[in-house]
Amino acid sequence: MAEFTSKSYFDFLEEGRIMGSKCMSCGTVHLPPRPICHDCGATEMEWTELGGEGVVQAVTVINVPLSKMEGRCPYAVAVVKLDDCPSISGLVHGVKEGGELSIGDRVVAEFVKEGDKTTLCFRSS
Ligand SMILES: [Zn+2]
Repeated sequence: MAEFTSKSYFDFLEEGRIMGSKCMSCGTVHLPPRPICHDCGATEMEWTELGGEGVVQAVTVINVPLSKMEGRCPYAVAVVKLDDCPSISGLVHGVKEGGELSIGDRVVAEFVKEGDKTTLCFRSS
């Protein structure tokens, strides 16, 4: 079985799957996965596959990019509360300016291949 680490998380993204670790004691889901529950301290974990649909909790549109994002502005970064797990932040595609994406909007996960690495992004659903 894969270890409950960020490396495993990224390996699963390559397969188009969002996998978190679920505490077998209290049921808390961790994303990215971790081997020790931050709620109850238990170390018994199992893998759980997450659906990839969620709701925007916070969003900002970036107009001055990080160097690796040069030429891609504007783009949006959001904190997304997945339906079946904790919040995670990610790029949201298809957002050109502020106001196009609001808190409470539904988004769906997208797996974006960049070079030899797959990242988790979102798109308005
Ligand atoms: Zn726990």
